[in-house]
Amino acid sequence: MSYGGIEAGGTKWVCGVGDGQGEVSEAIAFPTGSPQETLAQAVSFFEQHGPLHALGVGSFGPVDVRRGSPTFGRIAGTPKPGWSQTDVAATLAQRLGLPVALDTDVNAALIGELRWGSGAGFQNVVYITVGTGIGGGVLANGRLVHGLLHPELGHMRIPHDRALDPFPGCCPFHGDCLEGLASGEAIRQRCGERAERITDPAVWELEARYLAHAITNISYVLSPERVIVGGGVINAPGLLAQVRTQVRELVGGYPDASGVLERVGGEEFIVTPGLGNRAGVLGALALARDLHRGAG
Ligand code: ZN
Repeated sequence: MSYGGIEAGGTKWVCGVGDGQGEVSEAIAFPTGSPQETLAQAVSFFEQHGPLHALGVGSFGPVDVRRGSPTFGRIAGTPKPGWSQTDVAATLAQRLGLPVALDTDVNAALIGELRWGSGAGFQNVVYITVGTGIGGGVLANGRLVHGLLHPELGHMRIPHDRALDPFPGCCPFHGDCLEGLASGEAIRQRCGERAERITDPAVWELEARYLAHAITNISYVLSPERVIVGGGVINAPGLLAQVRTQVRELVGGYPDASGVLERVGGEEFIVTPGLGNRAGVLGALALARDLHRGAG
């Protein structure tokens, strides 16, 4: 059986063909352009690599992930030019003649990590991606959390000390939410250059502070067994270690239950994706396989 999977990010799309069980045989990546050209590129790729049995999509949001909803698979209001109200799932289904499963890009990555990566064996896992934007997916008691629409971890509010960091934040909706302060785009706007070029330790200390606040909040709300942090920003030298140290300081010794503090303070609580940057497309392929097999 062969499936198609798309990691449909706001910055780039990765399309892959595979068995839905952890293998990708063909893949292509291209920048996210207009909806018309981006969807056409994806359709063209899958037409060349068929026949396929189903397609899975991990889409940037906000997007309607409620199966059975009249607007299932449609991008909601987004500042990304041209994409508001784009029917991603319906367009792909119609153009390719395939059943389409769709969840958020972060939930797709989380699914990949749960099956073959850093989330394997856990029932309560949070996946956060810190890239151009910030998003997150949640597994609670073994189930993905969708709720009213889907979690938007990137838009949580965190303390912003304007004396320490006068940057007002770059979220078009909230200014200084987590994404507005700590995304790759926020770093770029604050410092005037791309995050991967920045070596000033003060920048990374501030970044670690913001991510640590977010992870501490997430941990108190959801009690995850593991927090997986993906995206390009976390690969900055020393950043992950600083985040772990600051989380340990922020939790302040509470709750001092058996093994909890040791775990939260250790290297097994906040981790990077076991699948690297393949988590999204592998998860999307798993969504397709689940749909085809009737388990989705
Ligand atoms: Zn926001």
